[in-house]
Amino acid sequence: MTNQSKSDQLPPAYALETLAVRAGTERSQFNEHSEAIFLTSSFVFNNAAQAAARFIGEEPGNIYARFTNPTVTMFEQRLAVLEGAEQCIATSSGMSAILACCMGLLKSGDHIVASRSVFGATINLFNNIFKKFGVATTFVSATDVSEWVAAVRPTTKLFFLETPSNPLTEISDIAAIAAISKRHGVLLAVDNCFCTPILQRPLELGADIIIHSATKYLDGQGRVLGGAVLGSKKIVEPVYQFLRTAGPTMSAFNAWVFLKGMETLKIRMDAHSAHALAVATWLEAQPNVTRVYYPGLPSHPQHALAMRQQQTGGGIVSFEVKGGREAAWRVIDNTRLVSITANLGDTKTTLTHPSTTTHARITPEARAAAGITEGLLRIAVGLEAVSDIQNDLARGL
Ligand SMILES: *Cc1c(COP(=O)(O)O)cnc(C)c1O
Repeated sequence: MTNQSKSDQLPPAYALETLAVRAGTERSQFNEHSEAIFLTSSFVFNNAAQAAARFIGEEPGNIYARFTNPTVTMFEQRLAVLEGAEQCIATSSGMSAILACCMGLLKSGDHIVASRSVFGATINLFNNIFKKFGVATTFVSATDVSEWVAAVRPTTKLFFLETPSNPLTEISDIAAIAAISKRHGVLLAVDNCFCTPILQRPLELGADIIIHSATKYLDGQGRVLGGAVLGSKKIVEPVYQFLRTAGPTMSAFNAWVFLKGMETLKIRMDAHSAHALAVATWLEAQPNVTRVYYPGLPSHPQHALAMRQQQTGGGIVSFEVKGGREAAWRVIDNTRLVSITANLGDTKTTLTHPSTTTHARITPEARAAAGITEGLLRIAVGLEAVSDIQNDLARGL
């Protein structure tokens, strides 16, 4: 799967920020400094024998961009090094990473146990699409480990979680859930989109698989969609076989955008976290704010676990305002700076009302049970000055 050209491979002993800038870079015969974008759908062979050797996998090298592309390979190698994974496979989006993971590793009759607090499209995929193909899912608490134990069946093959969760920033104890998965011979997949490897390294905590929506912090500037599946060679190989056959692969252009994005990942995650902590602390002191959800605050019920498992609290803060939907919408409609959009992981601060946007399609009862009230707002804190973000929110508060 790897490209054999002149390589800039670094030993993983370098610090994460060094690896984020340099790992995975491979130069062509032109010795370009910045990574090249290989906009080609196929690759030529020197002769018939080489073509044959490539196709049967006897000789490594590129064949066709649905299988591999050198720019995409650089992205995969860089992210693999950052996550401490043996193998990484890039996909066209975060959702296609989850799809490829499950299509590669599961079959009809298998069972998934998933956190109830995962991304909405993930719930849809498991509930409405996989169910049609005979893969059932049991949804359990993100935080109550005993529910994971109780949900295991003889057919359970996969545990799936996301931590911190969206929008309430619940923290799942990766090491504790990994211990249960190991005991039952189940694979644990962690969607590491909110933290990125800069803040949280799930494989070191016992997870088997990491899922990324690269669309968020890995890009960091809201430009392109992409995703990734990481794990051991043994786990990723069937996922790669699905991907090269079915085709939701990452484009070379998008891989290049992610390579550039990852070079600033460490300083961005540090700044997102510092800004989010400042905004969350300020929100806690506002008279019309009744509750703030942020893992970096000592008031967060799982603050100790979060600080053990993550480097910082990350960039996402949710808060509840007095006065329900009307008051929440007033905050949104009085902003002049922050973007009213459900996306996250961007240098630009984004603000959304989960109960009428990201979580609008679930029943009011399910929303209430999940704690997503009408007064709840989610802010993905960007890199603007904290004072400007605070002033923008203050207007509607
Ligand atoms: C956005 C998101 C996804 C889906 O990623 P896409 O790139 O939009 O397909 C999956 N998980 C989490 C946690 C996300 O925030």
